[in-house]
Amino acid sequence: MIKRLIRSLLGKSKKALKPGQAQVLDRKQHGIDPQLVSSNAVRVTKTLQDAGFKAFIVGGAVRDLLLHVKPKDFDIATNATPEQVKKLFRRAFIIGRRFQIVHVMFGQDLLEVTTFRGSSADSAPKDEHGRVLRDNTFGEQHEDAQRRDFTINAMYYDPATETVLDYYGGIADIRAKTLRIIGLAEVRFREDPVRMLRAVRFAARLNFTIDPATSAPIALMASLIDNVPAARVFDEMLKLLMSGQALACLQQLRKEGLHHGLLPLLDVVLEQPLGEKFVTLALGNTDERIRQGKPVSPGFLFASLLWHQVLEKWQAYQAAGEYPIPALHLAADDVLDAQTDKLALQRKIASDMRDIWAMQPRFERRTGKSPYKLLEHPRLRAGYDFLLLRCASGEIQSGIGEWWTAFMEADGSGREILLTQKINTAGSASNTGPAPAKKRKRRSPASRARSDSAAPATAPVLPD
Ligand code: ATP
Ligand code: MG
Repeated sequence: MIKRLIRSLLGKSKKALKPGQAQVLDRKQHGIDPQLVSSNAVRVTKTLQDAGFKAFIVGGAVRDLLLHVKPKDFDIATNATPEQVKKLFRRAFIIGRRFQIVHVMFGQDLLEVTTFRGSSADSAPKDEHGRVLRDNTFGEQHEDAQRRDFTINAMYYDPATETVLDYYGGIADIRAKTLRIIGLAEVRFREDPVRMLRAVRFAARLNFTIDPATSAPIALMASLIDNVPAARVFDEMLKLLMSGQALACLQQLRKEGLHHGLLPLLDVVLEQPLGEKFVTLALGNTDERIRQGKPVSPGFLFASLLWHQVLEKWQAYQAAGEYPIPALHLAADDVLDAQTDKLALQRKIASDMRDIWAMQPRFERRTGKSPYKLLEHPRLRAGYDFLLLRCASGEIQSGIGEWWTAFMEADGSGREILLTQKINTAGSASNTGPAPAKKRKRRSPASRARSDSAAPATAPVLPD
């Protein structure tokens, strides 16, 4: 009875072995298709093994292989030190200062080779909330398994023998579609609060259920994420948004109580009633592109997520007497400033966002040289895709998007005709004004400028 209790506290299934012992599964038992294993990963493990070291494919790649999904990248774990690894490969680079890992390159393909880490979490230096600050000792393989996050991420695959080593009942959890943390959830989330975001991401992406003992402390511990360096939270958020299941991830974040007051960005995204359609469309598009293997730009994604906040501030500045274009820039500044503190938006991403936003009023000018100039804009495609999202969400009339689609596809004379059409027709394609507002309440510019929620239902009136 007590043993069972301890086992369940440690997050292990009934059949779990003693700590430090792994279940060894052969090909029949694990069913991994060797065709899905990268030949470069096999090259790396073989080279290390031929030199007398242990070497395995580890982590997310093994999880994906067990789910019969082609892994997007392969990580290798070994008992060789970084120096020893480096010597075995022609193009290998030691990176990282605290905990060194080795990047092994074959052409464009990059493999990360990590030396087994020791289970030093108890003695590792921590901040006042219990977050581990440094955890950089080498150790044994079973210790390496223990310090990984989830049971399904702590398996090792040896391509030479086609065996899987499973220390924490990961295979059983994969089959039961359960996401379970290794050890005590409260302790592991305290050590590294980002694991809570990872739990949400994996559960949503894989369509797994979070084990109750793993999910129980999440809502209570959510605020610990505030102490994590912004750049790390941002990286994790980006992974979440680019997982191909961004919508599902955000819904799961909300379900786990992780969204509120956690990141200003998420508050905006999940709690703005008027921008919801736009954000849902944007994320749905992004998910679709990722599933089709098309590139997605983080700048476009964040520009979409924050657009309705920009819109609201844009209108507030205009109501306060600012001209439309400077008003848009001021609005962009406000929104970017508020987010960069917390999100550590990289400069490149922030400048892409600004470009996309700043292009929007230019799409409204469809006379003279303006449209031709816009065609030369290096980020035209992103700006145009963004314009289409605005049309699809009902923020502006779809005729504007249709006009630009036609203009971009037309030849020289076709474009001239389109330009005159614009002037002659009073119909849909030429109406650049905002969609009619439904019962918009009048408020003073000051109160609008203060308000962070309710974005306007329509775009501000733009010059043509
Ligand atoms: P993805 O498919 O998104 O890359 P992944 O599982 O490979 O998923 P990575 O962030 O690439 O995730 O990490 C590789 C492995 O390192 C994980 O599978 C896990 O074993 C371990 N790991 C990563 N982050 C943590 C963490 N915060 N705490 C403990 N272990 C971690
Ligand atoms: Mg990975």
